[in-house]
Amino acid sequence: MSQGDGDWALDLSHVAKTYRGGVQALRGIEMRVKRGEVFGLLGPNGAGKSTLIKILMTVIRPSRCQGTMLGRRVGDQGTLARVGYLPEHHRFPDYLTARQLLHYVGAMGKIERKDRVGRIGELLEMVDMTDWADKKLGSFSKGMRQRVGLAQALINNPDLVLLDEPTDGVDPVGRRDIRNIVTRLKNEGKTVFLNSHLLSELEMVCERVAILLRGEVRLQGTMSELIDRRAGYRIRLVPEDDMAAARATVGTVVQGGVELVNRELVLKTADAREVQPAIDALRRQGFTISHCWVHKPTLEDLFLEAVVDPETGEPMHVGAARKVRAG
Ligand code: ADP
Ligand code: MG
Repeated sequence: MSQGDGDWALDLSHVAKTYRGGVQALRGIEMRVKRGEVFGLLGPNGAGKSTLIKILMTVIRPSRCQGTMLGRRVGDQGTLARVGYLPEHHRFPDYLTARQLLHYVGAMGKIERKDRVGRIGELLEMVDMTDWADKKLGSFSKGMRQRVGLAQALINNPDLVLLDEPTDGVDPVGRRDIRNIVTRLKNEGKTVFLNSHLLSELEMVCERVAILLRGEVRLQGTMSELIDRRAGYRIRLVPEDDMAAARATVGTVVQGGVELVNRELVLKTADAREVQPAIDALRRQGFTISHCWVHKPTLEDLFLEAVVDPETGEPMHVGAARKVRAG
């Protein structure tokens, strides 16, 4: 870490973007990404994920933006030399070979030819494309293009890597390989910021996530913060037992309440000591416990929670950004 950069690879506030035509793609984003972590930005298509990355890369101009990337003001061109970028829907020229593309991107990044040669060999190896190095991109599958795309994002040995839908169109084996590469980058001390509309992708690799919906962050935190806070005991009884009566019994002895969901008693606490009185009370009343375990929500559960409209309790229409009248 260079001096004065602080703990955050990204520290953003009030990031807003209204496209010409009035689409409010981002409506005041606050987001922090810690150095050296894998951060996942999750959201349905149209949520604003690519818009945010493009602002960071200075590909588009924000309507408003405060904050820093690698300790420097967002928009600072010099910082981009330390950032790698895999754009979404990238379309590198079909007539280039994988190796030529990497030379091209490296040359653009002012990396000297003698340094490029070795680096390109390593990167092609890393993304398992060595055998295809001198074949034209035009002959590649989507998954192979994504591998090469990943390699080009790393040519400048960046401190921060921004990956926009890295597993888009990639088969399960390719997705696993990409996840392994992301983990490897983290182990090398890099910060990885990735976008995905696929929950399962993020769950497996990210330490911190944010859920973006219609240009707003609905939820963010480390996976353990988000999940542990919502973890709680569940108790299942034998089918003959009267669940409503069981719930009433437990309700008298636990703090924080108990709910009945799909014939399971759902307790708010994940503390084993607090559950013992519930078990005692149930047993005293003649109930038969068949299962008792700590339930942890998945990222999908968090996502569904995030998309529920707090007023109606119904899932909000996800996706489309809100359009405002210009002027
Ligand atoms: P995501 O990457 O999460 O799918 P985007 O950032 O691509 O979302 O898009 C967010 C919203 O902004 C969408 O409603 C999209 O249609 C709109 N949008 C994206 N790019 C442009 C553009 N260049 N001009 C106008 N609207 C755009
Ligand atoms: Mg996108």
